[in-house]
Amino acid sequence: MKTDLSSLDFTSLKAFADSNGLPAYRAEQIFRWISKGVSSFDEMTDISKPLRETLSEISVITQLKTEKKLISSDGTVKYLFTLADGEHIETVLMNYEHGNSVCISSQVGCRMNCAFCASSLKGLKRNLSAGEMLAQVATVNREYSVSSVVVMGIGEPMDNYDNLLIFLENISDPHGLAMSHRHVSVSTCGIVPRICELAEKKLQLTLSVSLHAPDDETRNKIMPVNRKWNVETLIEACRRYTEETKRRISFEYTLIKDVNDSVRHAETLAKLLHGMLAHVNLIPVNYVAERGLYPSSQNSVRRFYDTLQKNGINVTVRRTLGNDINAACGQLRHKTEAAE
Ligand code: SAH
Repeated sequence: MKTDLSSLDFTSLKAFADSNGLPAYRAEQIFRWISKGVSSFDEMTDISKPLRETLSEISVITQLKTEKKLISSDGTVKYLFTLADGEHIETVLMNYEHGNSVCISSQVGCRMNCAFCASSLKGLKRNLSAGEMLAQVATVNREYSVSSVVVMGIGEPMDNYDNLLIFLENISDPHGLAMSHRHVSVSTCGIVPRICELAEKKLQLTLSVSLHAPDDETRNKIMPVNRKWNVETLIEACRRYTEETKRRISFEYTLIKDVNDSVRHAETLAKLLHGMLAHVNLIPVNYVAERGLYPSSQNSVRRFYDTLQKNGINVTVRRTLGNDINAACGQLRHKTEAAE
């Protein structure tokens, strides 16, 4: 089998070069080109044609084909990419005042089956390679200058942990994009053992935890993962994470009408997070037809927000972006595949 150069960390790429009789600077060149988002060896113009041919005989790099590119009236850009094996993933570019943020997918599909999410409607197809994660950032970065990355697209990154770690290493490698981990967020539905492992690495990432409910009864209804690692276990792991890394955790809370949006839920949430290095992001749920769950009214959102604030919790209501282009998790991939 050909070696996938896009998924090697720099040390392994040097070893690959070495074992093929190539000097270390060749590894630097290849790593730089991959980080620039090229999709073929032919684009590596400082490498001679015969060597490019040799490389393509023994190895591959990730190819992302832009299948669709939708631009929202608010400036959000959504890419539907086709992978080498024909699978589809989504990548979203969001413009904020502080710069462009790109939201990448970590798997094709998902097996977590959260009740409000479109990504797992057809289950998990496969993990993305580290190269396929990096290529999303690199490809978007060719068109728009990317200043931060969130691993919050399709898939559960902690369910693809080994590839996630290589991706995190490669994106910050000085030979490539050299992005500080302070500009990277990883979002999880709460795979507790992985949160603990990541904590030990003390990376300066932002961990986002999709909490969506402050008690087991509510959370069990909307997030099957809670039956394996319940709220108490999850929060304990989160506390450990903040202690090890000194980084604030961002808790995502999707407000769903009559499910998790009462004042009682807000009060329980405030108690749960009391004294923790934490921030809560409230997001009215994006309606997904197959899921039949509705967003909370503006009044309920306001009431929830006020209750948290009154109880000393750091909280913001997230702006929803890209509503006109199906920018919510997994929606575009799902619609495209359903139409095929
Ligand atoms: N699996 C990871 C990352 C992908 S989901 C996780 O669970 O965090 C990214 C975020 O979008 C999560 O917070 C998820 O709960 C949220 N999300 C999924 N579907 C949504 C919808 N229909 N409306 C609003 N948020 C949604």
